[in-house]
Amino acid sequence: MSAPGTLFIVATPIGNLGDISDRARSTLREVQLIAAEDTRHSGQLLAQFGIETPLLALHEHNEAARVAELIARLQGGASIALISDAGTPLVSDPGYRLVAAAGAAGIDVRPIPGACAAIAALSVAGLPTDRFAFEGFLPQRRAARRARLETLAHETRTLVFYEAPHRLGEALEDLAAVFGPTRQAVVARELTKLHETVYRGDLAQLGARAATDANMVRGEAVVVVAGAPPDDDADVAAARVDALLRALLPVLPLSAAVDLAVEVTGVRRNRVYERALELKRQPGDAEDA
Ligand code: SAM
Repeated sequence: MSAPGTLFIVATPIGNLGDISDRARSTLREVQLIAAEDTRHSGQLLAQFGIETPLLALHEHNEAARVAELIARLQGGASIALISDAGTPLVSDPGYRLVAAAGAAGIDVRPIPGACAAIAALSVAGLPTDRFAFEGFLPQRRAARRARLETLAHETRTLVFYEAPHRLGEALEDLAAVFGPTRQAVVARELTKLHETVYRGDLAQLGARAATDANMVRGEAVVVVAGAPPDDDADVAAARVDALLRALLPVLPLSAAVDLAVEVTGVRRNRVYERALELKRQPGDAEDA
């Protein structure tokens, strides 16, 4: 029996063909098969590099069914590359099921890194990059989108969203409504392409621009939003301490209520203790245990 092949996860350009790496090209040339999201689109890309490796479609609608076939071919000794339409596969693109199955089957899975729109946008946004959260696409329907944003309103990490051009205006409106109009943000559009533009401002300014500047809502865009100010963290923690103490003080001795609230919230004990004393002093707020 031949040794199993390797599954290569290969990043391709997000616009500028010059961003493909030498390793990506040689890997795509040397593997026996390239699994691609859209074989026509990828066929054109590969033709520009003179790569003639056979292509097989792997997209969100057939991934579950195709995985077994691809794993069998890998186990039979074939090496396979996975690419998506643009950028890094699996980042808001198909491939997760295949990589999980290959890992579980003991097949070697190797990255050939390269372009990724989220990272490219973050690198020019000028917003904190020490901690960030990639949120991918927001829900398409407005109510669901606002509900998702509500869960992120107190997130202190920089947030990175992908957005379709025709929804960019609505998404910016919702971001301003939920996060507040003064939150700083960046819209990075058509990165690495002819019309690459990076718009900076607060959410209200960016929303107003999207409503009046037809160019801004053309092409592909990443929205990077500053995290909530750290004070929000403190406010949220204080609100949680209060809620817990109000529930616990009527039924537990003060020190036990304080211990529990400290354990649950992680807030310093002396702050929780002082707050518990204040609440005990407020008639009707926290009855004597
Ligand atoms: N896997 C890709 C990656 O690594 O970036 C992302 C694929 S996702 C289906 C497509 C989304 O990525 C677009 O809707 C847009 O939000 C973003 N995107 C892709 N190319 C872009 C570009 N050149 N400039 C700005 N955003 C881009």
